[in-house]
Amino acid sequence: MSPPSRLRIVGGTVHDPANGVDGEVRDVCIEDGRIVAQVPPGSPALDARGMVVMPGGVDIHSHVASSACNHARRLLPEEHAARPMAAPRLEPGQEPGRSGTGGTLPSTFTTGYRYAGLGYTTVFDAAVAPIQARHTHAEFDDTPIVDGGFFVLLGNDEFLLRQVETGERARARDYAAWMIGATGGYAIKLVNPGGVQAWKSGQRNITQIDQPLGSTRITPRAILETLTDAANDLGLPHPVHIHCNNLGVPGNAVTTLDTMGALAGRRAHFTHLQFHCYGMGKERGTGWSSEARQVMDLVNANPLLSVDVGQVMFGPATTLSADGPVEYLLHASSGRKWVNVDVELETGCGVVPYRYEERASISALQWAMGLELFLLAADPWRVVLSTDHPNGGSFESYPALIRLLMDRSVRDAQLKRVNPRLLAGSALADGLSREYTLNEIAIITRAGPARLLGLRHKGHLGIGADADLTIYSRDRDLARMFSTPRFVIKGGVVVVEEGQLRRAPAGRRLRLRPGHDSAVIRELRRHFESYGTIAFDNFPVRGLRDAPLELG
Ligand SMILES: [Zn+2]
Repeated sequence: MSPPSRLRIVGGTVHDPANGVDGEVRDVCIEDGRIVAQVPPGSPALDARGMVVMPGGVDIHSHVASSACNHARRLLPEEHAARPMAAPRLEPGQEPGRSGTGGTLPSTFTTGYRYAGLGYTTVFDAAVAPIQARHTHAEFDDTPIVDGGFFVLLGNDEFLLRQVETGERARARDYAAWMIGATGGYAIKLVNPGGVQAWKSGQRNITQIDQPLGSTRITPRAILETLTDAANDLGLPHPVHIHCNNLGVPGNAVTTLDTMGALAGRRAHFTHLQFHCYGMGKERGTGWSSEARQVMDLVNANPLLSVDVGQVMFGPATTLSADGPVEYLLHASSGRKWVNVDVELETGCGVVPYRYEERASISALQWAMGLELFLLAADPWRVVLSTDHPNGGSFESYPALIRLLMDRSVRDAQLKRVNPRLLAGSALADGLSREYTLNEIAIITRAGPARLLGLRHKGHLGIGADADLTIYSRDRDLARMFSTPRFVIKGGVVVVEEGQLRRAPAGRRLRLRPGHDSAVIRELRRHFESYGTIAFDNFPVRGLRDAPLELG
C-alpha cells in the first residue's frame, strides 16, 4: 500500500514558532508532500489529540557522511562488534530495511533511521573536503529519509590562500562559488583558518588571528574576511560557518572574541562554540575556566552572529575534525589511537576516540559551559542545539540534552555529581534558573536552524512548507518524550507510525550552484595541471539525482 498523498493531522497542540504558533490546538493538512490550508472532507486523518506537533528537526552541524566519518568507522571496529543493528521491519512493499552498526558513528542506513526515529528530517554534514565530495554524496545516497547537504572546507586550501596572499578577493569569491557548485555543497566551512595548512606543512599551529602563515602575508583575519565576504556577496543562504583557531585550548576565548570582533557588521555563524570559550583558570594553577558568559554577551549584542553550541554529553564520543593539530594534541594527551590524514592541496583530518566523564574536571567544565551558552542566550533564534556529533557526544543524546534545558532539577542533580574543580566562576555553578519552553526547543532544534540555513520550506508548518513533522506523546520524562516520537512525517510520508519505523524513503540532496565569473576556470585549470593529482575536468561531481536549489 502506498501512503496517502493527503492527510489531516487532527487536533494536535502545534508549536510552529516561525509562524507565531505557540501551543495552539489546530489541524495541519498535507497534500503531495507539502503543507496546505485544507484537504477535502473524507481525506485520511491522523488523530493527534493530546499530542505535541512540531516541524521536523533540522541539524545544522553534524558529521554523518564524509570520508572523515569513514576513517573513524574504520578506526573503531570494536564499536561495530558491540552494537550490531538489526534491519528495521518496514512495511511490506518497501525496499527491505538494512542492518548496520551503531556506536558513536553509526553506519549510513542506521544513521538515517536513527535521525528519523528522533524526529529529525534534515541533516547537514559540517565538514567535507572538496576532493572527497563524491564520497559524501555516496554516503548520503545510503542515508535514508533525511534530506542532506554539506559544507565545503575552504580556508586552508592552496588556491584560496594564494588569492588571499595577493588580495584577489573577487577571484576568491568566484572560486568559492565554483567550488560549491562543483562539489554539490551548500555552504562554506572554515576550520582553524591557516592553522591546518601551517601544521600539516611542518610549521607550528597558528594561535592568533593576526599571526602570518610562515613568511607570507596570509593571516587568519584575512582568510576570515575573504570567505565571510564571499559567502555574503554571493547571497548564500547560510553565511560562512566558522570553526575558530585554537579549538579546545585554555584561554581560547580571547581568540573567539577577536574573531567575532574582526567580522563585526558581517553575517557569520560560529560553530561548536562551547569548544571556543575557555579562560585560563579562575584560581591559580587550574589553567581552565569558563568564559561562556563573556562570549555569549558578545553574541547577544550582535544580531548578525549565530552559533551552535556543540554541547558535551557524558559518555563515549569520537572527535573528528579537519583541525589536524587539535587531534594531534588530543591523541598525545589521551594516548588513544588515532588517524591523521593530509588531504592534498585542501585540508587535513584527524580522528581520536574519546570519553567524557562526570568525574573528570575538564569534561565537567565543558558540560557546564555548553549549558551556560544555552541558558545565557538572549535570542534562541541564533543559538542552535548541537553536540557537534560525534565530537561532543552522539546526536542520539539530543533528547537528554533537551531535558537538561527544560528541567532545572535534572540539571542541578547532575551538577552535584560532576567534578567541581574547574567550576569556580561558572555561571551554571552559580545558579541559572532558566528552563526552556517547548516553543524554545522548537526554535533551537528546527525553526532557528532552518532560518539560519536559509531553508524557506523547512522548520515551519506554513502553507507551502515541506510536510516534515514530528508528533510527540506528552511524557513527564522529557528525554523519553523526545527520544520516541509517536509519529514522524517526512515529505508527507508517515515514516514513524506509533513509535515504529515503517517507511524509509530516500532523502533529498540540498545543494547549490552559485553563479561566478568564468574567468576563474582558466586559473583553476592551470592550478590543477600544475599541482593536482586529479584532472580538472574530473573534479566536479556529476550525476547527482537532485537539482540544485534556487538561490535568492
Ligand atoms: Zn563539527
